[in-house]
Amino acid sequence: MLYRNEAHIVYVGVGSNLGDSRQICQQAIALLGSHTMEVQACSSFYRSTPVGYSPQPHFLNAVVKLHTNLPPLKLLARLKAVEKQLGKDIKIRWGPRTIDLDILMYDNLIIDKESLQVPHPRMHTRSFVMLPLVELAPQLIHPVWEMSMRELLEQLENPTECIKVES
Ligand code: AMP
Repeated sequence: MLYRNEAHIVYVGVGSNLGDSRQICQQAIALLGSHTMEVQACSSFYRSTPVGYSPQPHFLNAVVKLHTNLPPLKLLARLKAVEKQLGKDIKIRWGPRTIDLDILMYDNLIIDKESLQVPHPRMHTRSFVMLPLVELAPQLIHPVWEMSMRELLEQLENPTECIKVES
């Protein structure tokens, strides 16, 4: 149980393109709902074209909204532990992966450390992040761009294919 007045609102991007991606994403979301984190909402799943490195399977992506008492770096460590538990093993940058968990937003904080940048520095350029995020939080303001997530989605320059999957 979280102490409400200490709970932070966090949006996490979930992606997978190796193995049974739907099951792996669902497992990741279940693992995120531990005693230090509560899953408040989960977007639809989207099937998306790979970005950055093409010869690989399509991804399955979603965004989850969490409440947590964990500070940002501890949250990142927790996400990495979940990724490890689910067998993340990346050999190529932007290449195939069983699971990828990214902190997109942490309250309205701006963090610029070597190990952690929040908001995620590429989120506003990616259809597979912005589409599911807008489902959950269209009015949420991006603290760097000072625009809502819906506005950022509408002005995304090179949208890539990203199709909502039947649940
Ligand atoms: P990748 O394995 O490609 O997802 O990259 C993960 C690395 O990116 C981690 O080791 C983090 O230290 C770093 N990183 C920087 N900002 C973020 C963020 N907002 N969410 C997740 N990882 C991040």
